[in-house]
Amino acid sequence: MARKKTRKIHIGNVPIGGGSPIVVQSMLKTNPENLQDTLHQALELKRAGCELIRIALPQIDKCKTIPFLKNETGVPLIGDIHFNYKIAIKAMEEGIDAIRINPGTINNIQKVKEIVNVAIQTKTPIRIGINVGSLEKRILKKYTNPNADAMVESALYYIKMIEDMGWQELKVSLKASDILQTISAYEKFSKKSDYPLHVGITEAGPVFSGAIKSAIGIGILLYKGIGDTIRVSLTGNPVYEVIAGYHILRDLGIRKKGINIISCPTCGRCKTSIMDIVEEFEKEVAYFDTNINVAIMGCEVNGPGEAKEADIGIAFGQEKATLFARGKIIKTGIPKEMARELLKEEIYNLAAKETRE
Ligand code: SF4
Repeated sequence: MARKKTRKIHIGNVPIGGGSPIVVQSMLKTNPENLQDTLHQALELKRAGCELIRIALPQIDKCKTIPFLKNETGVPLIGDIHFNYKIAIKAMEEGIDAIRINPGTINNIQKVKEIVNVAIQTKTPIRIGINVGSLEKRILKKYTNPNADAMVESALYYIKMIEDMGWQELKVSLKASDILQTISAYEKFSKKSDYPLHVGITEAGPVFSGAIKSAIGIGILLYKGIGDTIRVSLTGNPVYEVIAGYHILRDLGIRKKGINIISCPTCGRCKTSIMDIVEEFEKEVAYFDTNINVAIMGCEVNGPGEAKEADIGIAFGQEKATLFARGKIIKTGIPKEMARELLKEEIYNLAAKETRE
């Protein structure tokens, strides 16, 4: 799977394209007016390993959250702006690391040019986010049905316009909720341009079906070497978007390392809330780079056996659990509230030992 060579740009301190590692991003879903909720979610995303955080800026006054979030999280922030070009200008003045605009919703060339002028002054990268549902009238007149070719033409038009103004810190996305249309648009575009690409399936759906849809769409594109940043769009907690993003990269062999969780499906014998433990643990270790198998098992039937086979394992009994590392019991009588912390501790221990070895 040869990765297509694209130009390199930087969003904050994160390199995009030009052979840099594929970046996982997600988007905040809180009301930006509620600073505490927004910060809490941004920190949850950071903890899950999210490398770029996007924030919707529906009104100009929401831009005041930008310096606060940047300071508190340290994760580069991308402002998502539609309709009102003044919001994009204000966001750049407030120090946003990149903006995502859809020229189709700004819908006025002069206003797009004003955004670009400020991007040049503030050295702000721009994602040109083309969406099949909001192509500009000029393109819609030419193509009777909005399709992949229409999306590509729209993107190339704006690239040329922005390049002519002297700005090349650009990234492009061409999204549709139809997987095959999205794939076709990215394939056609990447034959014609070497700008870095943000890939995703827009409005993919609820967590379960949306993750599958995204894994197919993003997975096929990445397999073809297309994509420099990814976002799995899900109707649900954005932490799942990050977890799904890392799974796609790992399962394609793009990221070689990571925690492989082996967990039992649970049954009537299970006396512990394994589902909650596994769900929380998965969120906490999604971005870990250590190549380790971790077993989390619900009872004494298969639990100790599986847990012993894994690098690290925990098997729950009636009340308490037993912790194994490399096949040996290392702790017994563990209360379930301690399970996640102890597992993480053992991951760090094992990783440190491997580094020393
Ligand atoms: S390990 Fe125990 S709880 Fe889990 S599925 Fe097997 S028998 Fe059921």
